[in-house]
Amino acid sequence: MRVIYPGTFDPVTNGHLDMIKRASLAFDEVIVAVLDNISKSPLFSTEERVSLLKQTCKDFPNVEVEHFSGLLVEFAESKNTYTILRGLRAVSDYENEMKNALANRQLNENIETLFMVSKSEYTFLSSSLVKEIASFHGDVSKMAPLEVIKALEEKYK
Ligand code: ADP
Repeated sequence: MRVIYPGTFDPVTNGHLDMIKRASLAFDEVIVAVLDNISKSPLFSTEERVSLLKQTCKDFPNVEVEHFSGLLVEFAESKNTYTILRGLRAVSDYENEMKNALANRQLNENIETLFMVSKSEYTFLSSSLVKEIASFHGDVSKMAPLEVIKALEEKYK
């Protein structure tokens, strides 16, 4: 089965990478789909977010990194892929994820959303937390891969 793992990935963290690694073992193919969401005014451009993911996922042969704008269900359809994978860290993720999953099913009833539970050591981890700590030059070496740490240092120098 092929799944789409969509998100902002601004930037990719060790939490995302753990999900991608586990998904690459659980499914035949994983398409990591970076959302071009201008409304969220990301720190990293779409090209930068895609490039950081490509560098950090290069050892997973069945993982592909792409970007999309507009509706996720349309991107999914264009890829002939009807399974969306999302991560659940805490109960606080649940409400929003439930809303998105129901909305996506309303838009296309063939779309299924699957959830994978975060590893306990990553439940606190988010891109925003990593950015906040990095902006104060704090140590994020346990939270993000080396390529991301370097890119953050460049942004916040
Ligand atoms: P979005 O803006 O779509 O929520 P994110 O990049 O924040 O984009 O997250 C993408 C996906 O990765 C979401 O399903 C989110 O729940 C999941 N995710 C984010 N951080 C972690 C983590 N630490 N552990 C597991 N899953 C995570």
